[in-house]
Amino acid sequence: MRIALISDIHSNLEALTSVLKTIDLLDVDQIWCLGDVVGYGPFPGACVDMVRERCAVVLKGNHDAGTVDELPPTHFNEHGRIAVRWTKGQLTEEQSSYLKSLPLVAVLNGITVAHATPNLPATWRYILSWKDVREAFVGLSTEICFIGHTHVPVIVGDNGSLNTFRRGPRYIVNVGSVGQPRDGNPRASFGLFDSERWTYENIRVSYGVEKTAASLMAAGLPDYLAQRLFLGV
Ligand code: ZN
Repeated sequence: MRIALISDIHSNLEALTSVLKTIDLLDVDQIWCLGDVVGYGPFPGACVDMVRERCAVVLKGNHDAGTVDELPPTHFNEHGRIAVRWTKGQLTEEQSSYLKSLPLVAVLNGITVAHATPNLPATWRYILSWKDVREAFVGLSTEICFIGHTHVPVIVGDNGSLNTFRRGPRYIVNVGSVGQPRDGNPRASFGLFDSERWTYENIRVSYGVEKTAASLMAAGLPDYLAQRLFLGV
């Protein structure tokens, strides 16, 4: 099976549309979304509808949870908080209850998917160090796990390998962010996994950053949220 893995769309419709166009050329069987469909960006409702229509699996991220009152405002930094509050007013009741219904973690076809960590998904902890990696592997029952949350694409192996992929080790793979990359590369990020060939590729896609930034400012969202998109930070 060929699976496209998208995460952290953050209401960036331009980026999502460009990524889906690229995915449509890649002959994938399914698209899985690892959460944070909303938050930060200017088009939450349209992104929820598009993800719901196109993805076979959709998880809940912390910004999705915050938008449907499952996390307190204090969970977020100032910009995140402002965006969560704004996003709440943009969604229909139906879109909100859809976000509410999403799971935090799933195991399908021998693959684990989570937004933040597979072992403690509701703590929303970030996997940032080798200590975090080791802890995450402890609770992992599958050979491979895909995550998002940090917005930085990376592949870590339980043998201590970094950004290599082959048969043998178990892997936790961060697929990066569609709508707000933070690895210094402003292009949208997603993953392509082939479970038969056992290959994984991180793919980057250019999109209309200017358009998203202009819409973000027109919506009255913080300037910083627009500026960071140009830099990928
Ligand atoms: Zn996120």
